[in-house]
Amino acid sequence: MKPSTRYTLVVILPAIILPALVIPAVYAYIADTVETEFLLFATLAGLLTAVVSALLIERLLVAPVYSTIGEMLQQRERTMVPMQPEEALRMTEELVTELVNSMDMFVIAERDGRVVYRNRGTDRLLGYHEKLLNAPLEHIFLDREDFKRLLKRAEQDGMADAMEMKVLSGNGSVVCVALSVFFLKERECFILVAQDRRQYAELARRLESMERELTERIKHLEDFRAGVLSMVKDLEESENRLHNAYIKLRNTQAQLVHSSKLKAMGEFTAGLAHELAQPLTAIRGLVLHMLKHKELYKDDAGKLELISKATEKMEKVISHLRTFSRIDKAVFKPVDVNRVVEDAFLIAGEMLKKTRIKVEKRLSQLPPIMGNQGALEQVVINLLSNAKDAMPQGGTLTVSTELMERNGKRYIKLAVKDTGCGIPEDVLPRIFEPFFTTKDVDRGTGLGLSISYGIIKDHRGDILVESTEGKGTTFSVLLPVAEKGDVSR
Ligand code: ADP
Repeated sequence: MKPSTRYTLVVILPAIILPALVIPAVYAYIADTVETEFLLFATLAGLLTAVVSALLIERLLVAPVYSTIGEMLQQRERTMVPMQPEEALRMTEELVTELVNSMDMFVIAERDGRVVYRNRGTDRLLGYHEKLLNAPLEHIFLDREDFKRLLKRAEQDGMADAMEMKVLSGNGSVVCVALSVFFLKERECFILVAQDRRQYAELARRLESMERELTERIKHLEDFRAGVLSMVKDLEESENRLHNAYIKLRNTQAQLVHSSKLKAMGEFTAGLAHELAQPLTAIRGLVLHMLKHKELYKDDAGKLELISKATEKMEKVISHLRTFSRIDKAVFKPVDVNRVVEDAFLIAGEMLKKTRIKVEKRLSQLPPIMGNQGALEQVVINLLSNAKDAMPQGGTLTVSTELMERNGKRYIKLAVKDTGCGIPEDVLPRIFEPFFTTKDVDRGTGLGLSISYGIIKDHRGDILVESTEGKGTTFSVLLPVAEKGDVSR
């Protein structure tokens, strides 16, 4: 009989029959009547239903469950076939051999150090093969004392853990290994297990060389960066120099244009002054003669006065023009520049009195220069007059003199500084041009600075200007100090 059938007959069928038999009894008890036929029929029907149900349960439920459990049990039994002792031994041996052979070096040595077993790894690593057997192992270690100490430690403690050792291989090369030694007391032998450190050494070497290379590259990069920085600095300096050179060039060009204009102007003015001087002298002579005999020209006395004043003014203008064109050859003598300043103030002082300008003089002790006192005075007066015009609301006018050096030569620097309106940037390049003026027609002639420029150039000096619009202007006149060889002209 199948177990599922057995289970159905023993467990399920009674479990169904019992309630089937109880139902008619309960019914009879509740109905309080016992009809034999009906009871018999109910009991039979209950029994029949119970048997059919049990059969169905057996087919649909119990039998499949039993077959599944049976299969599982069979499978389990199959997998749990007990291993035979010989097979287990063989497998263990294989495993151990595989393990031993996978090691870089596995050697069994007697207590006295003679090798009795070595694995394939040892042959590969050291290349001694059979020659290693029965030979004392200590000979292949470069530091025998270390090796002996290792053995001793293993003998005492059962094992001595990995220590870096150098081993001499069969081909004479030195192999670096990490050696661990175990001592088996029962067998009185050592087991030596070593790991080849060459790959580590190689790795370490490569890492070291990489580190060196990286350090070098970083250094190169730093050098490069420093180079770039210095190049940038050089570039900035070059740019500054270029900018300065450009400004110098622009000034020189302006001065050049100005000089050539001045030269042409001078020639033209010289001719004009010469042509006008003679007829004017004649006119002035005649007028003076007529004025001497006023009584003859009573009616025109007023007109004669007018002609006389007009010719006088014309003579002054011509004299100015002569100075400008340097028809009058200036006489050069030793001159004290401080004296020039003081004399100029004698004339310009009057014009400054009626203003709200504060005058400051800072004159230093100076050596003489070779020059023309009158012409230089005229320069200072021009500069003072311009400074006054630049400060209509008042301000400070500072005149200073000092000794300085320029390109290895000694110069006297005469500076006239004002706190006036300043010169606009577009006007600055034109101020030395003859007849250039920004002033009203009756106030400016535009000749002051161009004449001053000519005079200073005649003295082999220079005239420089620094100005900030709205803040003020400084004119600096540089005059070379008279050196021993200089003579009057
Ligand atoms: P003028 O004084 O007759 O105009 P200058 O040759 O002396 O002629 O000066 C030319 C121009 O330079 C002036 O018209 C003025 O615009 C300018 N200038 C000269 N000096 C100064 C100064 N100290 N401050 C401002 N502008 C000045």
